[in-house]
Amino acid sequence: MNGHRDGNPEAAFGALGSELRLDILRILESAARESASRLTFSDLYDRLDIESTSQLSYHLGRLDGVFVQKSSDKYGLTQAGERVVRAVYAGTYTAHPSFETVSIDGTCPRCEHTELLATFEEPFLSVVCDECGETVATYDLPPAQAVGRTPKEVLRSCDRRVYHELGMAIDGTCPTCGGIMDASSRQRTSPRTDEYVITASCRRCFNQVMHPSNSVCSTTRPSSQHTGLTGVTRRTSVRGTSTRIRPIGRSRSCPWTHSKRASRQTCSTRSSS
Ligand SMILES: [Zn+2]
Ligand SMILES: [Zn+2]
Repeated sequence: MNGHRDGNPEAAFGALGSELRLDILRILESAARESASRLTFSDLYDRLDIESTSQLSYHLGRLDGVFVQKSSDKYGLTQAGERVVRAVYAGTYTAHPSFETVSIDGTCPRCEHTELLATFEEPFLSVVCDECGETVATYDLPPAQAVGRTPKEVLRSCDRRVYHELGMAIDGTCPTCGGIMDASSRQRTSPRTDEYVITASCRRCFNQVMHPSNSVCSTTRPSSQHTGLTGVTRRTSVRGTSTRIRPIGRSRSCPWTHSKRASRQTCSTRSSS
C-alpha cells in the first residue's frame, strides 16, 4: 500500500491522484502558513467535505510518509508535500500563460539583423530573428512568471533567472533539485565556431543546462572546483549584474534557452564584452 515510502515514484504520484488528497495537502499548508500549526485528525475531518473517518484514514494513509508526516498526533506537510502545494498554487500544471509578441532590440547571430521578436508558443517563450527566422533563444516559461508582468518585464525576469540558474549549474549545483552537476565545455559547431558552450548535467534528475561561455560574466564568478572550466571561464570578463539586466533589450546579447523538460538550456548570441 505504501510503496511510495520506499521511493516508488508510481505510488507517490498515484497518491496525488485524488482531489480529496490534494485538499488535505492544501488545508495542511494553509494551517502552517496562517497559524504555524499542524492539524489533528479531527481538525482535518472538520475542514474536509468527507463522509466518514475511515475515508479520511484511508486517504491520509495514502499520503503519509511522503507528502504528509504525523508526529504527536498531528499532521503536517513534508518538504515534498509543500512542493506539491506550491506547484499547484503556481499553476505549474494547469495554467496557460499568454504573451503578446513584442519587437526587441538585439542582434541575430546568423544574419546580424538587429530586430528580434519575442514570441510565445506554449510552453516556450522564444526570441526569433525578424529577418531570417533564426531562433535566437527559447525559454520554457512557468505560468507564474508571465502573470502580472508586461512582456518586457517577463523577458527581464527570464534573463535574471537563467543567469542565476547558470551560476548554480557551473558551480556544481543543480538549480532544479540541488543535486551535483558535472559541467564541461565544447566548441560550437554552428552558426558560430568562435564560441564555447558550457554544458552541465545533473547526476540525480538529469537536468541539463547549456550556455555559451562568453556570457558567463554576470551573476557568477564560477569556481572551477566542480567544473574543470577554468580555461574557459578565464576568457570571459566579469561584469556587474546591472549590465545584464537588459541584455535582450539593448545590448547585443540574448542569453537564454531553458528547458528542463526538454533537457536543454542554450543561448546562441554573444555578449558584447
Ligand atoms: Zn537573422
Ligand atoms: Zn537535478
